[in-house]
Amino acid sequence: GRKHKVTVIGSGNWGTTVTKLVAENTRDHPDVFERDVQMWVYEENVTIAKDSPHYDAAVGDKPQKLTSIINKYHENVKYLPNIALPPNVIANPSLPDAVKDSTILIFNFPHEFIGNICKQMKGHVLPYARGISCIKGVTVTDDNEIELLCEYIGDTLGIYCGALSGANIAIEIANEEWCETTIAYNTPPCDVRGGANSNSPPSNGADHDHKDARGLVSKTKLTPVPADYPPLDHDEFQKLFGRPYFTVSMVSDVVGVSLGGALKNIVAIACGFVEGNGWNNTAKTAVMRRGMLEIIAFGREFFPETIEEKTFWEESAGWGDMIVSCTSARNWRYSKMAVERGVTVQEIERTELNGQKLQGISTTREVCGFLRARGVENKYPLFFAVDGILDGKVKVEDIPKLFRK
Ligand code: NAD
Ligand code: 13P
Repeated sequence: GRKHKVTVIGSGNWGTTVTKLVAENTRDHPDVFERDVQMWVYEENVTIAKDSPHYDAAVGDKPQKLTSIINKYHENVKYLPNIALPPNVIANPSLPDAVKDSTILIFNFPHEFIGNICKQMKGHVLPYARGISCIKGVTVTDDNEIELLCEYIGDTLGIYCGALSGANIAIEIANEEWCETTIAYNTPPCDVRGGANSNSPPSNGADHDHKDARGLVSKTKLTPVPADYPPLDHDEFQKLFGRPYFTVSMVSDVVGVSLGGALKNIVAIACGFVEGNGWNNTAKTAVMRRGMLEIIAFGREFFPETIEEKTFWEESAGWGDMIVSCTSARNWRYSKMAVERGVTVQEIERTELNGQKLQGISTTREVCGFLRARGVENKYPLFFAVDGILDGKVKVEDIPKLFRK
């Protein structure tokens, strides 16, 4: 039989880290996966610093293609420096070529690029490919509906896509320090082996159906994973993502996993603001607690049929991610720095992050724009406080007032 070919779309700080651990697993499970993992890289020219072990005097300061650097030195010197990548990671600057013949697509790039990337992938993806989105964010559609990224991906490419999210700081996982994550994946009925007619053509179309995040039959009809591939179910995703240093919890709640990861970035920015303002852990705890209540309220309001609140309490993608993000992630760290230096967070993103992105800024904009259009600002005072501070219209000191009944 055939084996699953894996492509990671994205090669930033987290994109490269996830590619590393997935490539360790394709190497360790040759019965299920092809060994080589394609990693799509948004190509750019990079100069290798003089003090780097990869500095080549013959090349000097001349910029080189990031894909060539990664394939030659097995290191992403720009977005994950000093971490050795397994040699079966293949950096590829061409999106159509990187996803060609792949049955497993792992989406891992800053969420603002999703429209453009999916557009370029359209028509190049196997109809029976399956996706996992590691991206933290949401999309707001043209008609002002909120859409989970995994659903946007699935609907745009005509495939099924699950979500991975958790308390995960890329560099710690790249250094193989232990942590946990949550993967939400609802194996489509047509992929259940031995189940409803999985590998023969369905007679009435029912086998092509699966449920969307709101619990309705999705408009995207699926092509089953052919029978000569190993099945693609929770066990296989454990094999692909689980490492001794990366404990994976498999669940079916795509809403909780996706919203936890996306919305905690707004709260992490608020925590950075509060700490930058000179307040301490008690103020920060108040922000985290209220932030979690707004996240759950958001889920209840917009995904009332499918929301599983226990995900927020029990999973790494819930309180776990909230705690780590508000104490050590980039959105927290650089928002704090912005207040301390008296400059905007956008300015800090441009000057201090070497190309990395703060997802919380655009997520705040998108989510608050969506909520404002529905006239429900009063239910989400913390989200709107962050929006107002980003606009320069609200002061950090005003946060407590915004909660006063
Ligand atoms: P990053 O912050 O390192 O962003 C840089 C990436 O963006 C680079 O790969 C760069 O090539 C790419 N990029 C820049 N301009 C682009 C363009 N026009 N088109 C396409 N790509 C472009 O990214 P990351 O840390 O890998 O984050 C990816 C996702 O993973 C985000 O949603 C983030 O919230 C999430 N995440 C990150 C971490 C972490 O610790 N870094 C942990 C968990 C989840
Ligand atoms: P940052 O993007 O703020 O670094 O968050 C990383 C993260 O998602 C931690 O779980």
